[in-house]
Amino acid sequence: MTLDPEDLRLAVYESFAEIGQPPAVATLAVRLATDPEVVRRGLRELHQQRHVVLGAGDEILMAHPFSAVPLGFAVMGATTLWWGGCAWDSFALPHFVSDHEVLVSTRCLGCGAPHAWIVGEDGPPSGDQVVHFLVPAARMWDDVVHTCRNQRVFCSTPCVDAWLNSTGQEAGYLMSLETLWRLAQHWYDGRLDRGYKRREPSAALDYFRGVGLKGPFWGLQQRVTRPTRSSALSIPGEGESLVERRHASAECIDPHMACMLGRPGDQILSRVNGKLSQVRWN
Ligand SMILES: [Zn+2]
Ligand SMILES: [Zn+2]
Repeated sequence: MTLDPEDLRLAVYESFAEIGQPPAVATLAVRLATDPEVVRRGLRELHQQRHVVLGAGDEILMAHPFSAVPLGFAVMGATTLWWGGCAWDSFALPHFVSDHEVLVSTRCLGCGAPHAWIVGEDGPPSGDQVVHFLVPAARMWDDVVHTCRNQRVFCSTPCVDAWLNSTGQEAGYLMSLETLWRLAQHWYDGRLDRGYKRREPSAALDYFRGVGLKGPFWGLQQRVTRPTRSSALSIPGEGESLVERRHASAECIDPHMACMLGRPGDQILSRVNGKLSQVRWN
């Protein structure tokens, strides 16, 4: 028996979109009029092509932006409840499912505080929380469940720092809720349509650049503005790096954030409302 992989992919996505969960293999076999073994083989092919993510027992864990397992976020629509995947995936859902507005909720890994936003299609939710991605774009698919589990929203940069220190991890990339919303807005366009093709790497880079992401974390070039010895601080122009840290471990540069990741004692140059200023972490 043959099975069109696109029929299988769409059946998985439609189930996630409608009921928040993936279909069982037996359900897929009935729906697609084929054998469970053919379905399993088809799912493994979709896994190879990164359309779905299977677990150790070939169960469907994810079909981005959907997740069958909790990764830190819950997303509530009018009649459907989804595990939200990561921050990126959770913010993508209102652009992707028939609900044009959803409630996204999570907890800060630094202090445990709850956070929730109404996320819709028209613009980013308000909020001064910060988003931290741990795994650089080039390695996101090494272990994509680990990657998604570590794309989270925190109260503030001190909460990110507290979590990194307590887990012994290197800093990744920080962005604002606004940048997260723009990243999520069109990333998954077309995945519910027949004939969907994944973006070529160059198109992905253009997309990242277009939503305001910067630096090698995303595979993008980054220019760093350094203060000169004469202490005449040059004000970075648009698209230039805004922050210089004495010991830079993060590649975090986001034009919408006034204050970046740092450690106590760091001297940080930060642009606030267009003015470059020196800030010291306490
Ligand atoms: Zn916190
Ligand atoms: Zn994710």
